[in-house]
Amino acid sequence: MQTTVADHPLIAHKLTLLRDSSTDTPTFRRLAYELTTLLGYEATRDVKLESVQVGTPVGIASGVRLARPVPLVVPILRAGIGMLDGFSSLLPEADIGFVGLVRDEQTLLASTYATRLPEDLTGRDTFILDPMLATGGSMETVIRMLADRGAATVTAICLVAAPEGLARLGTAFGGEVPPIHVVTGAVDAHLNQKGYIVPGLGDAGDRLFGTI
Ligand code: URA
Repeated sequence: MQTTVADHPLIAHKLTLLRDSSTDTPTFRRLAYELTTLLGYEATRDVKLESVQVGTPVGIASGVRLARPVPLVVPILRAGIGMLDGFSSLLPEADIGFVGLVRDEQTLLASTYATRLPEDLTGRDTFILDPMLATGGSMETVIRMLADRGAATVTAICLVAAPEGLARLGTAFGGEVPPIHVVTGAVDAHLNQKGYIVPGLGDAGDRLFGTI
């Protein structure tokens, strides 16, 4: 597994504002959008392309477009939805799948309540959106779903990651899975007993969408 900590100054600046507990929900959403575009730029560096030619007003230009079949992006519900617009602004052609996972607050284990994914992902680049890579349980579940469907590559984009989650993903898979790349804005200190990232930013879903 490859891990990229995208330590660009703009990412560090926006992440600091995002973490601040005095940042209100509209600002939090805008920052999540902006951070996803910056992280998404890094995460799509190796996206598959194919050659095309286009006619300009004065000649023929050789260029590229996204390879077919187009990539698939999968926000993990609910917090991953807060990253979808930002990522879609970079790759509007990508198909969008959904996986809904809910975490049991006692056991910290995630269970699936919704899945909407293509049956066959052969040859496709795939991207998973989840702001917080905490225990890594949800991410491991979704990576397995994409790998089982034949994805060519899996790139997980997170705003903040915990060392525990990265370590779990690093050892969870044998040789049978596609290349896995984690792109994150920061790696924080550790998880607390409730599975929250410290210092983190709190509950990303609540901060994006309110406490329900
Ligand atoms: N999910 C969150 O929203 N925040 C954390 O710190 C960990 C998991």
